[in-house]
Amino acid sequence: MPKDGSAVNPFETARKQIDIVADIIGLEGGTREVLKHPKRELTVNFPVRMDDGSYRVYTGHRVQYNMARGPTKGGIRYHPQVTLDEVRALAAWMTWKCAVVNIPYGGAKGGVVCDPKTMTKGELERLTRRYASEISSIIGPEMDIPAPDVYTDSQTMAWIMDTYSMQKGYSVPGVVTGKPISLGGSEGRGEATGRGCAYVIREAAKDAGLKVRGGTVAVQGFGNAGSVTANLLHDEQGATIVAVSDSRGGIYRSEGLNPHAVEEHKRKTGSVVGFPGAKAITNDELLESKVDILVPAALENQITGKNADRIEARMVAEAANGPTLPEADTVLFEKKVTVLPDILANAGGVTVSYFEWAQDIQRFFWPLNEVNERLERVMTRSYADVHKVATEHKTHNRTGAYILAIQRVVDAIRIRGIYP
Ligand code: NAD
Repeated sequence: MPKDGSAVNPFETARKQIDIVADIIGLEGGTREVLKHPKRELTVNFPVRMDDGSYRVYTGHRVQYNMARGPTKGGIRYHPQVTLDEVRALAAWMTWKCAVVNIPYGGAKGGVVCDPKTMTKGELERLTRRYASEISSIIGPEMDIPAPDVYTDSQTMAWIMDTYSMQKGYSVPGVVTGKPISLGGSEGRGEATGRGCAYVIREAAKDAGLKVRGGTVAVQGFGNAGSVTANLLHDEQGATIVAVSDSRGGIYRSEGLNPHAVEEHKRKTGSVVGFPGAKAITNDELLESKVDILVPAALENQITGKNADRIEARMVAEAANGPTLPEADTVLFEKKVTVLPDILANAGGVTVSYFEWAQDIQRFFWPLNEVNERLERVMTRSYADVHKVATEHKTHNRTGAYILAIQRVVDAIRIRGIYP
């Protein structure tokens, strides 16, 4: 269930999106049906020994949605509310995201139904290793490459890499991305999502006639993606960051906030709230504040049919996954707000994951400047591709991005043909 408590089934949403685009590009029945079905799903139930000596059975899923364009790629989520339909939807979205930035991957996602906040490190390690072992027959550098997602991190990836390598008898760093640098992780992966988002904003601002230098920015969710986007817009593009927030609330300062100082305050106190010299605001006020650029970088379902007409920003850059509901998209399009959709705006993360994998399988590692230059090229080109398709179809960037992505997947399916 989504975090706003509504009973929307995310896989139904994902399938509706496919139908909308299939209608626009005139896709016939057979290929449309292929796109609406996950290629491969594995559900595993497995016991884990807890610290007190008891055993508990956990359920995990791995869904490989579509592999027409290459091995599948997508994160693993640990959460009490993981469902197979959620994993299917996330796997479909990964398929489109990889296709939008034109990296040679299909999409996948994994999830384990568990509450990591109540588990010890030892219990999490045993759960991770057993889950990795259970899905090991369908993952691998040529097949399906997991990465971190909600409540999994570089340590989780290190355990999966080790478990998989133990089964093979040799080290296989390319089986997962988002690893620690010492195990074959990539320079620049940590800030790749925010960096990619900042590049897309820069490019889109040119088309929207918006000046980022001196322009005002509000960032909802001052975590990894949000804080990096804020820092780069401030440092490299001369924007004024007027508002930021986290789960405890928001802060506002019309003359601008120094995002590095806010980061330091959050590191010390656990929140952006209480930052000296700033006014306290709510997350709702932040979303509706009068700024040039709004960056939702926290949760899904933030801009809805209820608040879309109160959004004052001229550009909404979705660092978060799924922050805008479909009914809000229409309102924003009519208000001429430039929306940079999640499958484009936050694709910097998976792009540098691809670079990590490419470095791992070549055993040849790149310096940070090379990673960032290549990321900049991918994001700049991808924005231009999306904008072109959206303009041609007289639609908003989200539909443009979906048309571009789905068309690329369809082209791969068609040229490969149907086996046998
Ligand atoms: P994170 O945990 O580092 O940061 C999330 C931030 O959002 C935290 O500061 C948290 O306090 C804040 N937050 C939580 N609930 C909130 C609320 N109700 N209102 C305002 N703020 C709230 O996570 P992240 O990695 O930065 O991910 C954020 C979003 O970006 C997610 O949607 C994620 O799927 C997406 N994303 C992240 C990456 C990545 O590489 N990190 C890649 C693609 C997409």
